[in-house]
This record gives sequence, C-alpha cells and structure tokens, in this order.
Amino acid sequence: MTATTPTKDITIVGGGIIGCSIAYFLTRHASYSPSTHRIALLEASSSNAGGRTPDSIQDPSTLVDPATASQRNPAHDGIAGGASGKAGGLLALWAFPQNIVPLSFRLHDELAKEHGGDKRWGYRRCWASQVECKARTPPGFGGKADVDPASAAGGPNIKGLHKDHKKDTKALKKLGAPEDLDWLDTEVSLTGYEGMGTPENTAQVHPELFTRSMAQLAEDRGVKIITGARVTSINKSADGTRVESVTYEKDSAAHTLPTSDCVVAAGPWTPRLLPSVPVTSARAHSIVIKPARPVSAYALFTAIALPAGFASSSKPQVVEPEIYARPDGTAYACGPTDTAVPLPPTNAEVEVDAARCADIAHQVAGISDELGRDAEVVARQACYLPQGGPYIGELGGETRGIVVAAGHTCWGIQNAPATGKLVSEIVLEGAAKSARLGGCDPKRVL
Ligand SMILES: Cc1cc2nc3c(=O)[nH]c(=O)nc-3n(C[C@H](O)[C@H](O)[C@H](O)COP(=O)(O)OP(=O)(O)OC[C@H]3O[C@@H](n4cnc5c(N)ncnc54)[C@H](O)[C@@H]3O)c2cc1C
Repeated sequence: MTATTPTKDITIVGGGIIGCSIAYFLTRHASYSPSTHRIALLEASSSNAGGRTPDSIQDPSTLVDPATASQRNPAHDGIAGGASGKAGGLLALWAFPQNIVPLSFRLHDELAKEHGGDKRWGYRRCWASQVECKARTPPGFGGKADVDPASAAGGPNIKGLHKDHKKDTKALKKLGAPEDLDWLDTEVSLTGYEGMGTPENTAQVHPELFTRSMAQLAEDRGVKIITGARVTSINKSADGTRVESVTYEKDSAAHTLPTSDCVVAAGPWTPRLLPSVPVTSARAHSIVIKPARPVSAYALFTAIALPAGFASSSKPQVVEPEIYARPDGTAYACGPTDTAVPLPPTNAEVEVDAARCADIAHQVAGISDELGRDAEVVARQACYLPQGGPYIGELGGETRGIVVAAGHTCWGIQNAPATGKLVSEIVLEGAAKSARLGGCDPKRVL
C-alpha cells in the first residue's frame, strides 16, 4: 500500500462463480489492501436448496474425502445456489470467447496448483469426445407411461446448451472409441465417435466446490460476504456522475452500503438491476448419477437417436445430453434449455420439473447400463443459464463506477477466473491488462 492508494468501497452483487472469482482476484491484486479497500459481496439467496429436489444430495463435498474437500460454511449458504452450483464444470482451451479463454484456462490450472484444487474442488484434466449413438429401451425403465408426455422436453430434435462443439456428424469416425471409454455400451449403441479434447486442452472442476472455495479464500483475505441480501438499487450521486451507494433487502429490512465501485455479477438477473445489459436466460435441467464404480474421465457431447416410443417421446428424435464423468465417482448429465417457466425472483423459487430430469436419466440409460440400470440418480436439479455475453467492463454513460460481469453463456465456469482477474484490474487499475476485452467490452457493444 502507498500513501496515494485511494480508498474504495467495492460492492459485488451476486455470489455465483463470477462474483466469487471477482472477490478472490480483487484480494490478490498487487494494490489491494484491506485497510484501504472495503469489499462486500452481496448474495440474494441464503440457501442452496432452490432448484434441487428435496431428495437430492445437497452438499457435494459429502461425496469425497471430507478432510480435503471444500467444506460447507453455513454462513455462506446461498453462494453458488444458481447455475454456478449446477453446471457441468467443463474447462477447455477450445471454448469461447477466444480473447479470454486461454487466460482463464491457465488461471484454473494455477489456482488448482496453489490451493490444492484437485482435492478441494475436483480439478482434473480429462478427455472430451463427440459420440453418435442409437438408444435402446433401457432395462428397468418403463415406456411412455413413466413420464407425463405433457411435460416432456418435446420437439423432434432437441439441442443442448450450444457449446458450439458440433462438427458435421457425417464426418464422425465410425466406432474407433478408446478402450477406456468402457462405460458406454459401445457394441450396442455407438454409431460414431470423434475425439474433441485431450488432457492437454481440456479439464474440469466441480463448480459448486470451486465457487465455494473462491468465496472462502476471498473472505479469508478481508471480503465481507452477506447472504440473503438482495440488491434492489444502485444509487448515484446527486449530479449522476458517480455511484454513491447500494441498497439491499435483508430480513425484510432495507440497508444501504456506501459504494464507490459496484460490480454487477448477477448472472441472468443482471438486467433487473441494469436494464441496458441484454442478458437473457433459459432454464436447464441436469442430474447427478452415482454408478457402481467410478467411470473414466470423459466429457461426452452426445447425439442420441431415440426410437419412437422411447420414454416420453412418441416420435423418433435426436437428443443431445452432455455427460461428464467426475472425479468424485459420479457422472453429471444435462439436457436442453427450455423457456417454460420465466426467471423467478431468486434461486429459491427455481422449479425443478421431475419429468425433464427423468427424460435425461432415460436417455443416458439408453446408451449406458453403468449409468442407467446399475446406477442411482442422486440429484435432480434446474437452474437458469445466462445468455448473450459475456459482458465484462465498465458501463458507458455518464455514471462512473458501475462494472458489469455477466451473461457468460455455457462457458461461465471456464471463463470465471479470467473475468475475476480482468475485473480486479478494471476496478483497481482503471483498465483490463491481462487480456483484450474485445467483444466483451460493454462500451463497445451497448
Ligand atoms: C446445465 C448447465 C451446464 C453448464 N455447464 C458448464 C460447463 O460445463 N462449463 C462452463 O464453463 N459453464 C457451464 N455452464 C455455464 C455456467 O454455469 C454459467 O455461465 C455460470 O454459472 C454463470 O455464473 P454467474 O455467477 O454469472 O451466474 P449465477 O450462477 O446465476 O449467479 C448469479 C448470482 O447472483 C445472485 N443475484 C441475482 N440478483 C441479485 C441481486 N439483486 N442481489 C444479490 N444477488 C443477486 C443470484 O442469487 C445468483 O446466486 C453451464 C450452465 C448450465 C445451465
């Protein structure tokens, strides 16, 4: 700290992976000092139960060694209660946008080395592949009667989360799947296989444990984390040129926090505070499966042909669940997005449609006995995917001191560390230094 270091009151809105990574990197910036910089992170929710069925595993650290995994801090309940706790957790050098991806991929690796991320948040290198399969009706799963067709995720071809991995499926090599991909019923169902990512350029984390860790590490260096605190307004100075404070509701009372720099990282809720930021959202369901033995480290982008009469589907269709083996011995699978239920006020009100989770389970079981017949579904969940960005940077206009970091699409877990680092530079140095903001800069696009 030098005598010229200005005093800053920094308020971060949102305790998802983006807000928590920003909090972490602010406290690691060379000019940060807890004596001159007050940082508060406000998270609207005070529980992670929203968007998860009551019978789901509520704390993923219970699946691994409690001595080394990131532990639940009850004072932080609500952190990672949205997409940041229910995402797959894939990281890839081939993700987008490419102006920040290499920085973020490298930072993930460095964070894991510095803080024991392999044990603390399940960081590991993995393979990624694209597979084309034909499902057979899985034993132990009923036909149509199992699922209410009215709530089936319908449409003849259901697209996944748009990770943009698709190549011409006709170009997929016939078979040729690696031997250790032995949990897919390759002999029965595989019609095409192509490698997409290798451990050189692909990795994964458990997103809830990673986000939890960023929050804890930031708090250990002086960030004040307040959950159950929903920001209702960002207040400007009388002449409108600067942010002055932030108002939030907690326990039915309004509180005002002096704020010189307000970073809005409210994921899909961002436009409710900053209407000029065009982040949109769509709901997505996912499940966590516990097979009888851990399965090898592959992330699979599937195209599964379902015959007519398969589970809830009356017509033949192609579905694209993504399936990620995890180092905690589980596998994660997510389905397509839907717009059946608009974004609720907070994470607590996110509705899980059990039929959509059942669809994903049936589809996975249709190509893998290990993940179907011989496995247990231990979590059924839903969350809202933020779309449209990412937007990272100070908003233009006459008011200084409002920074946005939102709209990270299906690569927000991958791009969180770079976002955190860049926002720390924008707030404490006045400009992004470690990577070009390019098309992420809200001043260029809004
Ligand atoms: C099914 C699925 C799978 C995915 N898989 C991957 C993957 O494999 N790899 C990858 O890189 N990305 C993946 N993603 C994308 C990733 O999950 C998101 O991009 C990322 O989690 C967004 O983080 P966030 O912090 O911006 O938003 P969120 O996680 O939604 O967090 C925003 C937080 O802000 C809080 N908030 C909102 N309004 C207020 C307010 N007014 N006051 C206070 N707090 C507020 C909310 O309660 C919430 O906790 C996936 C997404 C989905 C849906």
